[in-house]
Amino acid sequence: MTIRTWILGLLLVAGAAYALQKAAPLRGEWRPDQVASGVYVIHGPTELPSPANQGFMNNPAFVVGETGVVVVDPGSSVQVGEMLLARIAQITDKPVLAVFNSHIHGDHWLGNQAIRAKYPDVPIYGHERVGPRVLEGAGTEWVQLMLRMTENATAGTEVVRPDRPVNDGDRIPIDGMTYRVYNNDKAHTDTDIMVLVEELDVMFLGDNAGHGRILRLEGGSFPGNVAALDTALASGAQVFVPGHGPSGGPEVARRYRDYLDTVYTTAQHGVDEGLSDFEIRPLLLPKLGPWQQWAGFDTELGGHISGAFLEAEAAAF
Ligand SMILES: [Zn+2]
Repeated sequence: MTIRTWILGLLLVAGAAYALQKAAPLRGEWRPDQVASGVYVIHGPTELPSPANQGFMNNPAFVVGETGVVVVDPGSSVQVGEMLLARIAQITDKPVLAVFNSHIHGDHWLGNQAIRAKYPDVPIYGHERVGPRVLEGAGTEWVQLMLRMTENATAGTEVVRPDRPVNDGDRIPIDGMTYRVYNNDKAHTDTDIMVLVEELDVMFLGDNAGHGRILRLEGGSFPGNVAALDTALASGAQVFVPGHGPSGGPEVARRYRDYLDTVYTTAQHGVDEGLSDFEIRPLLLPKLGPWQQWAGFDTELGGHISGAFLEAEAAAF
């Protein structure tokens, strides 16, 4: 081997080691809140990913059953997933039996890696469109996005996609309970599932609702998202866990439903009256008082108005 190839080899090894260097564990005393019997939610920050929050921004949750634990949305990084496992271990020594991922957005599922590392055979359920899209590149894009937004606080995170495709109406028996899957084609995205634990009347809404946080609607649908939340409200669930922000009763689904409905019906009215999309804002703002203090309101409103306008216009044809 020449010196040149030897040095090149050394550089490659150093580069690989650098790429694999894992960032520090998640800081902070994140405590699981018990929202129903055996159902815990770690209510994460509602800000966007940053170096300060190390990318943690969602609501990782888990259900402790008779023989094991079911995890919902283990978070945005391997660090969040490991924090979640540590909190589960403080409550029970039962193993994780299954994982649900609510949709394609990586802040909800990049933590899969930590669960898989400890439980190599654990099934990870997600809507049938999530897995293929992750393989097409969405997973790597999310890893990169989190690294950029957190200045590498999520380093070490790798793509572990959901491998058990599910769809609307599926009822999955796990550990003596029934996990009922809802999908409304397009809602927050076109990959959302909501999961009802039938025996506990607990509904995991994913990002079909934020509570105290307005969420970007991406490849989704305003009326579709409203319809999904109407379905959730009609499901008989008593406890509602949103993708971001505090859990609660039906008001969690209703408040977000009403926000989306207000934006869309106002856009629809504008389309009917032949207005342009910039004329919608002054009509809409006075109606949005209840949501004006929510995180993300200012940043998302412009996109929501143009998105709702475009959708209302297309629907009017
Ligand atoms: Zn989302």
